[in-house]
Amino acid sequence: MISVTGYKQFVQCERLWFYKNIVADSRVKNDLFRREVTLLSKLQTVHAWRGTIVDNILSKFLVLAINNRYPVKKDYFIEQAMAMFDTQLEYATSQKYREPDAVLTNNPAFNAFIECEFGEGISDEEINHAKDDIVTALTNILDDKDFIDYLKSSKYVISQRPLIYNFDRFSVKAIPDFIAFFDDSPPHIFDWKVHTYGTASYDEQLIAYAVALYKVATIKPHADFLPNVSKWKIHDYKLTEYQLLHKDRIKRDYYVTDEKIEAFGENMSSAIIRMHMAGANKKYNQLKADDFSTTNYIEHCQKCSFQKICKTNSYETTSKYTVRDEHFQN
Ligand code: SF4
Repeated sequence: MISVTGYKQFVQCERLWFYKNIVADSRVKNDLFRREVTLLSKLQTVHAWRGTIVDNILSKFLVLAINNRYPVKKDYFIEQAMAMFDTQLEYATSQKYREPDAVLTNNPAFNAFIECEFGEGISDEEINHAKDDIVTALTNILDDKDFIDYLKSSKYVISQRPLIYNFDRFSVKAIPDFIAFFDDSPPHIFDWKVHTYGTASYDEQLIAYAVALYKVATIKPHADFLPNVSKWKIHDYKLTEYQLLHKDRIKRDYYVTDEKIEAFGENMSSAIIRMHMAGANKKYNQLKADDFSTTNYIEHCQKCSFQKICKTNSYETTSKYTVRDEHFQN
């Protein structure tokens, strides 16, 4: 299974992709090396974490409010976000994920910071800044009355729904932030961004979501999709990136064109060929880390959560024994 995020990881660094997508596996309990890689794959920066909290709050509470026609109460959303913030901050800074029985998936308290694993921890200033950004992002969208009214005019919304389809010899997965379905107009896909400057463009990411929705809607629609969803052409879909942190609430609309679909398909095809040649379709026990090249860009390594194990395929446990994955040795 590959995702747009996955193939971008692969292009950035094959080895990183391998650790994240082949070695890391939350279901593996008794292999210390794989458990460590699984944990490292979940490390995030404080900067990324604040965006995750906003995504999760909108995914849970905005969907609930819109679909049930409840009033959208900003104070309630922010209260829930702050509770999540405090719980996850405490979990990460006290490194509870290092406890032997720590639950790494489906654990609402789980959080692990790169800064606490490799850096000097996080300062009060960074914590306060992250908290302010979350409040600002939620305030911007929830006070955007026209936008909330627009969502309320939809029949139904979904969020963080995995959309899976076949492409070449791979299954491709895309998880759009938010999709609104309407009785008499095409689906509208939204991508939330919690970026300080909001200058980057996310054209390809939204096209990837549109392609995934179109494939699923026309081949095997999910049970809760509106019956009309398959009648729309992909070119009818609406795509919007919403910069939640920007004071002007920047919304960028993108349009699906044949050229963009073709360019996306070509990028996917060439990535899939490269991934296939590297053996990305194989299982863990059929592969070695050396099958996957390391990046030439040192700046990628400086921010990478696998830097501890990358060159040696081993790591130092807290008890100071080195755990090496025998499987990786030639
Ligand atoms: S440390 Fe560098 S080479 Fe190794 S996985 Fe990370 S980005 Fe790739």
